[in-house]
Amino acid sequence: MHSKKIQDSKQRLGKDLAILAHHYQSDAIVKHADLIGDSLQLAAAIPKLKAKYIVFCGVNFMAETAAVLAAPHQKIFLPHPDATCVMADMAPASLVKNILEKLGQRKKIIPLAYVNSSVGVKALCGQYHGSVCTSSNASKMLEWALNQGDQVLFLPDKNLGENMARLSGISSEKVQVIDIRQRGNNLSLEKHSDHKMLLWPGVCAVHFRLKPEKVYRILNDNPQAMVVVHPESHPDVVNLAHESGSTSKIISFVSKAAPGSTIYVGTEDSLVLRLQKEHPDKNILPLGAGYCSNMAKTTPEFLAETLENLDKDNMVKVNEDLAGLARTAVETMLKVSS
Ligand code: SF4
Repeated sequence: MHSKKIQDSKQRLGKDLAILAHHYQSDAIVKHADLIGDSLQLAAAIPKLKAKYIVFCGVNFMAETAAVLAAPHQKIFLPHPDATCVMADMAPASLVKNILEKLGQRKKIIPLAYVNSSVGVKALCGQYHGSVCTSSNASKMLEWALNQGDQVLFLPDKNLGENMARLSGISSEKVQVIDIRQRGNNLSLEKHSDHKMLLWPGVCAVHFRLKPEKVYRILNDNPQAMVVVHPESHPDVVNLAHESGSTSKIISFVSKAAPGSTIYVGTEDSLVLRLQKEHPDKNILPLGAGYCSNMAKTTPEFLAETLENLDKDNMVKVNEDLAGLARTAVETMLKVSS
């Protein structure tokens, strides 16, 4: 019933509508999407879209980023208003501001925010001449950020930051997780004076479930098996895996594997299950991350309802001052990573 309503709306709106879906959306949503991708692919697509109405099936930071990049005549919609990201919520903009002000007293601090952050945090990145990154371009963006100042504050994902620092060859003594308790008052500037990279102590609640012991056991029991994981996973998990990367990289790894391969995939299960269906000639198994409860909030029912009510009251709105600064940070990313 909801599928029919969605199809009717798509027919009615024609070229005026574009439905975008993140890889972590369920098949019931993905089948209606005009474009499926990871955060970078979806963000990069926004400025090229002609559609007047862009419905973003994902979580709120993605829809906010789309609103920041959209042309004035375009309206962005998020089917479920409560689809947030646990990781993004771990870095409230007011706290990030306190920390940046404190760190900026001694050094030129460059914030580099994972795209999984609020528009307020992205605006701070623009204000402090930093930028944002996705899991596809984090390594390149980190290299760029290291050349812009004395220290990089990577946020909110501690694991992605640590994994990228290793990839960039930064020694572990130069990387440290910061203390954000007491609204930043616990932070010691002396303690961090020699660090090149400071990490915000945030994590993804889904990839947090992946444990190195399990990967070790799998590889021990089945040395022929391959493991591919998302870099939001713990660095020990990433080190044990054969490959790590964005959702697009994971999809490509699975596609290129020989028929008959056994591959454990360490990322959100909606994508793992889709890969299973798309590659019946391979043995694809979930590593155990499970589902993201926020991604799962977008159901056909909410999508159908959104498509029938594309009016101003429901669109995603961002404060114009914040949007301007956030746009600078996001456009820097698109320029540096292109
Ligand atoms: S999978 Fe993790 S990072 Fe992605 S939306 Fe869910 S909580 Fe946030």
